Amino acid sequence: MSRRKLTPVEKARREIYSVSCLDILNHQNWMALALEQAQQAAQEGDVPVGAVIVRNGELIAAAGNARQRLQRPTAHAEILAIEQACEKLGTWNLSDCAVYVTLEPCCMCAGAILQARIPLVVYGADDPKAGAVKTLFSLLNDSRLNHRCEVISGILDTACGKVLTDFFQKRRDEKKG
Ligand SMILES: [Zn+2]
Repeated sequence: MSRRKLTPVEKARREIYSVSCLDILNHQNWMALALEQAQQAAQEGDVPVGAVIVRNGELIAAAGNARQRLQRPTAHAEILAIEQACEKLGTWNLSDCAVYVTLEPCCMCAGAILQARIPLVVYGADDPKAGAVKTLFSLLNDSRLNHRCEVISGILDTACGKVLTDFFQKRRDEKKG
């Protein structure tokens, strides 16, 4: 079977398409790791949110929400992951890192992401109650602030949302039982 040669436009389109597919697969792989952290948090009795920090395709930090376990209001997954990453890299400046988090960051975490100069945030499910990236506020994209980052949302959002609904459902069932 003879194959028609692709026109330059078709070729470019195909390249763009394959790159973005690879990107999405890549994002899903990292998000799956964040999801593991969320599941571990649930086992410890914490609201299941997980985060990982990646630099040059390498995992730098991974943490789950530990507010309950540590009895600290600031122990959100993103904050713990940022602290781990800073410790590991010996710098507060994470401008060559990306953060993957299962739930849309809150005001505190979006603030920490800006302070750490993280340029890319990939998250799973939107948070209608506290989301500060898109839902309630757009802190990561506010021209009045001195840093902005690229945001990709909706990666594995169904699975990321399901760990949360399962957790709260289980908690309600336990209260009833
Ligand atoms: Zn937070």
